[in-house]
Amino acid sequence: MQIPLLDLKAQYATIKEEMLTAVSEVLESQRCIGGPRVSELEEKIAAISDSRFAVGVSSGTDAILNSLMSLGIGDGDEVITTPFTFFATVGCIVRAGAKPVFVDIEPKTFNINPELIEPVVTEKTKAIMPVHLFGQMADMDPIMEIANKYNLAVIEDAAQSITSTYKGRKAGSIGATGCFSFFPSKNLGGIGDGGMIVTNDEQLYGRLFIMRNHGSKPKYYHKHIGGNFRLDAIQAAALLVKLPHLDEWSEGRRRNAAYYDKEFEGTFVQTPYVSPECVSVYNQYCIRVPNRDEVLAHLREKNIGCEIYYPVPLHLQECFRSLGYKEGDCRQAEKAAKEVIALPVYPELTDEMKDYVVDAVFEVEGN
Ligand SMILES: *Cc1c(COP(=O)(O)O)cnc(C)c1O
Repeated sequence: MQIPLLDLKAQYATIKEEMLTAVSEVLESQRCIGGPRVSELEEKIAAISDSRFAVGVSSGTDAILNSLMSLGIGDGDEVITTPFTFFATVGCIVRAGAKPVFVDIEPKTFNINPELIEPVVTEKTKAIMPVHLFGQMADMDPIMEIANKYNLAVIEDAAQSITSTYKGRKAGSIGATGCFSFFPSKNLGGIGDGGMIVTNDEQLYGRLFIMRNHGSKPKYYHKHIGGNFRLDAIQAAALLVKLPHLDEWSEGRRRNAAYYDKEFEGTFVQTPYVSPECVSVYNQYCIRVPNRDEVLAHLREKNIGCEIYYPVPLHLQECFRSLGYKEGDCRQAEKAAKEVIALPVYPELTDEMKDYVVDAVFEVEGN
């Protein structure tokens, strides 16, 4: 059997006709950037995220970069974040001109440990950027408490967690901005790159909107320097076809996760912990095993798609060496990087496929 980590062809087969119609409508209109489909998507993403405003952008990365730029975060500023995330989170902080300050993760959730934030706040700190990793939100209450105490902005990197909840509140709706990605492997994936920023702050919304288009307002008059962060109409049209299915797809992911949880219970496999305060959308199902590299090799031999998110915590990346972090500075992230392995959890998986994955994990010698 061959089981990919994600099977977008299986998903496409279920929506092909609608998708072709939607894309064709954009082509016929030749309104290729912005336009009514983008506005409609913005309204709908704001609504499902319990947020007042949304700004469609070119990627999840640009959602983060635009948030930082629109909040005026740059040279000399510090942003507190997690080292256990996709590169973009921290790449954007540095590209904005600010300095990332890493704090370690909670080993159970893989998310930033709020207890470690306050000790690293300085007079240069301007923001906290929690990442809602693998589909589960970070522990937002203590993060917001610290942010309010020191007047810091909170930028939620919700690229992996659209519609996920924490104490009933939606990902992206708690901080100053929430950043979503429509990269094809995310729960709501486009047919190329795309992203969205949500906010409840009307003034900030105005700034995000202007910064998306080179900071231009009125046209060709620039009070601020923005970028080209625009969303293509064809992406919005494709995403509008997929959006009505998002909840059912997330439910399918949760069902698959529950199946694996049960199969792995009481074994050497540590299954993902979901806090009782959270509903995860399982962008990834990451187990922890002590003999990770053996398990990975065996699964790959059996044609099971799996991946390591993430093999090198960001504080140890070569390009950030000048920040001065070293091995041992974020021990939980470093340990997780050696033990995690993401298994296929996409909604179209059958029981037979899941059994094949589970059996393959158990087959590894020494277990
Ligand atoms: C995917 C992702 C991003 C970047 O999104 P793109 O759309 O690929 O630019 C940022 N942060 C996290 C945590 C992600 O998973």
